[in-house]
Amino acid sequence: MSEFSATMPKNPNDVKVSTAEAVEQILHLSKSQVEKYINCGEAYRRRYIIKQEAPTSSTLVFGIAIHTAIEQYIINMDTDDFDILEYWEHIYNEELKLHKSIVFEDSSPEEDIELGNRMLRSDELYEMLSLYKPMTVTFVTEEGERQGPAIEMPIEMHIPGIDVPFIGYIDMLCDDGIPLDIKTAKRKWTAEKAQKELQPAFYINGLEQMGMPVPGNTFRHLVITKAATPTVSLIETQRSKEEVSWALNLARIAYQGISKGVFVPNPLSWICSPSYCEFYWSCMGMENAQVCNE
Ligand code: SF4
Repeated sequence: MSEFSATMPKNPNDVKVSTAEAVEQILHLSKSQVEKYINCGEAYRRRYIIKQEAPTSSTLVFGIAIHTAIEQYIINMDTDDFDILEYWEHIYNEELKLHKSIVFEDSSPEEDIELGNRMLRSDELYEMLSLYKPMTVTFVTEEGERQGPAIEMPIEMHIPGIDVPFIGYIDMLCDDGIPLDIKTAKRKWTAEKAQKELQPAFYINGLEQMGMPVPGNTFRHLVITKAATPTVSLIETQRSKEEVSWALNLARIAYQGISKGVFVPNPLSWICSPSYCEFYWSCMGMENAQVCNE
């Protein structure tokens, strides 16, 4: 059994975790885990290996609540008594209660509720949503099987070379077989940005393994901007077989690194800031190096 120490100075959770212990804690892999590992191994280690407590960003809370509100709207699209704005405020407040500590950098709960109201009042959003209906699928639950709209549809797949299942949730599987993902973003996405996303390759592969091949290997991104006047855009991208294989290989390489206990800190990563790394205030990224040089 090999030992490793991937610690940064000033780390309050400076613990050594054996490779075997680290691997034991991996019950599954997901797109978020792969992205976290690639962006910064140290952030992965803190989140998934030593499970360091960290405040939740208000951006995450906002994103979860907006997702839930839109998904509930889709589920209740044919009913008259669903008020999405009322539901949004309710679910946002519920989400706030779920987190011990939340960091609001440049907003407040009241401002976030108002931003959500503006986003959910957008006519463009409902025009886009009216174009697609969720497929009806069978969900296997602890209580048994049930039929329902393919919203937050779980997927599970096997990637050769990865010993644990790769899992994920598709925001909506449209009735034409194409997955749709809802994103909130500060700025409008370009087609190039959508093409760089890893998620489509994983989900296209997962659906194929589940016997639901995606027509044209297409993926839909519904992107709503968090702006004074929110915009809504729908971008469709495709993934070739080679691009899917490339993404699976990236996941495999990440898994190999995790399994071997290799957690390289990446203070040069775009996530290395108080806005995007929940461990910034205990790790400090590059600032740490500057302090060490003094
Ligand atoms: S602060 Fe930077 S180096 Fe430290 S865990 Fe976060 S992203 Fe990684």
